[in-house]
Amino acid sequence: MGRVFLEHMGGNRLFSCANCGTNLTNRSELISTRFTGATGRAFLFNKVVNLTYSEVQDRVMLTGRHMVRDVSCKSCENKLGWMYEFATEDNQKYKEGRVILERALVTECDGMEDRVYNVRRGRDIRN
Ligand SMILES: [Zn+2]
Repeated sequence: MGRVFLEHMGGNRLFSCANCGTNLTNRSELISTRFTGATGRAFLFNKVVNLTYSEVQDRVMLTGRHMVRDVSCKSCENKLGWMYEFATEDNQKYKEGRVILERALVTECDGMEDRVYNVRRGRDIRN
């Protein structure tokens, strides 16, 4: 296997692979937190980087029939969720090309530019 090229989305509130820490996306790409995956709660994102995609699969969900691809971390190959390739129901079309990441499989943390530590000096509260 050759070298794996990874991208970085930047921004505040980053989402990364819980297994290896590879950056996947950030808060500004988050569309919805009201999805359910195999492991429980799942998030829908507009754009996610550093993924590998499985072959297209035909899957019937509560919201109708969809063509989806499972997505895995490009770095450690852990399964992370799935991508909607095609939705048959008109009201589900907004999901096409969007990616679901399962909450339990990713970690959310502050971006670099967020890391400001305030040193609190011991202050006397008396007036
Ligand atoms: Zn990973």
